[in-house]
Amino acid sequence: MTDKQQTINGYPVVRSDRRTISINVDQNGNVTIRAPKTTPVTELRRFVEEKQEWIQRAVQRQAIRQEQAPAFAVGESIPYLGGSLQVTTCEIASASARGNTLLLPQYGDPREHALRWLFGQAQTYLPQRVLYWSQIMQITPASITIANPRTRWGSMKSDGSLRLNVALMHCTPELIDYVIVHELSHRVHMNHSPAFHAHTERYLPDAKQRRAALKQCGAYLQLLRPAGE
Ligand SMILES: [Zn+2]
Repeated sequence: MTDKQQTINGYPVVRSDRRTISINVDQNGNVTIRAPKTTPVTELRRFVEEKQEWIQRAVQRQAIRQEQAPAFAVGESIPYLGGSLQVTTCEIASASARGNTLLLPQYGDPREHALRWLFGQAQTYLPQRVLYWSQIMQITPASITIANPRTRWGSMKSDGSLRLNVALMHCTPELIDYVIVHELSHRVHMNHSPAFHAHTERYLPDAKQRRAALKQCGAYLQLLRPAGE
């Protein structure tokens, strides 16, 4: 017997052949109770009441996540190297750009397709800019890795390995250059001391302004991250 209309504290109950009760909070903050067919309503009510605090916390968490997640959908545009690309789908196997349009395959996760495309672009663009600045600054990194970390635009390890965030491709060329000069300067000063900033400003006199502008681009770090991650 299934009763899809049943609710506990306003949350719908889905009965099935399962053996335990569980509470699920989805990405939109919708709560669903899953329960075995035979569990009495009084037991469900007790279970939900005991978990009430947990449920509220989970719903709040999803609400915060939704606010922070920038919109990415077909029909919208993504910022790209100071311009923007209109996202659309068509019958192709992998993403490609034509002019100001980013074409994505019709099937699969559009974010995933777009991110894979962005990695491809980053793999060409970013090392070229690193090479450009390496020659001017006379600092060459031991290696360059392009990754998709959650919060950092770039990092430089003491062994000279440079990591750059693929999401830099959403920024303007000026801000990308700032991140590269910043990270290369860490080969000279492994800190953010006045000497470090002076070194950065030798190559980019407006480094401070670029740094401030980059802070405004924080949402770009999340733009193509899988939803809810
Ligand atoms: Zn730094």
